[in-house]
Amino acid sequence: MAGEIKLNGLRLLLKGKTIEESLKTLATLYPGEAVLTTSFGIEDQVITHLICVNEIPIEIATLDTGRLFPETYKVFNETIKKYNVPIKVFFPEHDSVEEMVSNKGPYSFYYSSENRIECCRIRKVEPLGRALKGKSAWISGIRSGQSDNRQQMEWIEFDDRKNLFKYYPLFDWSYEEVKEFAVKNKIPYNILHDRGFVSIGCEPCTRAIKPGEDFRSGRWWWENSDKKECGLHK
Ligand code: SF4
Repeated sequence: MAGEIKLNGLRLLLKGKTIEESLKTLATLYPGEAVLTTSFGIEDQVITHLICVNEIPIEIATLDTGRLFPETYKVFNETIKKYNVPIKVFFPEHDSVEEMVSNKGPYSFYYSSENRIECCRIRKVEPLGRALKGKSAWISGIRSGQSDNRQQMEWIEFDDRKNLFKYYPLFDWSYEEVKEFAVKNKIPYNILHDRGFVSIGCEPCTRAIKPGEDFRSGRWWWENSDKKECGLHK
């Protein structure tokens, strides 16, 4: 209930503001406690660009699962070079990864949904918890058009479990608008986006989609679920 009251206040405060103004407001309200988590997908790159060119004091963090595409590291490198900003990296706890891979092999996630969830928990969810520790505002590149599941979300939310606000600056943007903005502003983006990969995660769990296919269908395609999430955004 307290979270809902706070959320209504913040929603009113940000309503009608540009993305830049909203990000500045969050940085002012929560100094040192606002963070963008990036997977270097094109949406995250647009937000990173807006934070950097406007010099907004919002931390940028990423989760390195150890299974990312080489192309993703290339964008990571291009981004720190272009904007000259630090990006804080969170790796999984090595003993958990060692135990899982030693016991189940490097592709355990293909064998059962329990294994897949375990891998995502170890490689993503636990490191995310550390990335968000002490934070009050979490900025993310989620768009409503990415999946039916995400259409149920709102552009700003309060996460009771994590006790923080979640703000999605590009919530109403289409993929085409994001791409157009990135190209126009010469924002480095993952070359895989030009090869049919619209949502880019870990290399073994992501594939390109065909025109007309659901946006998230390239993620964990072997699972029969309409909720293609890894546990980061519940
Ligand atoms: Fe593991 Fe695949 Fe989840 Fe990456 S996306 S953490 S490899 S199950």
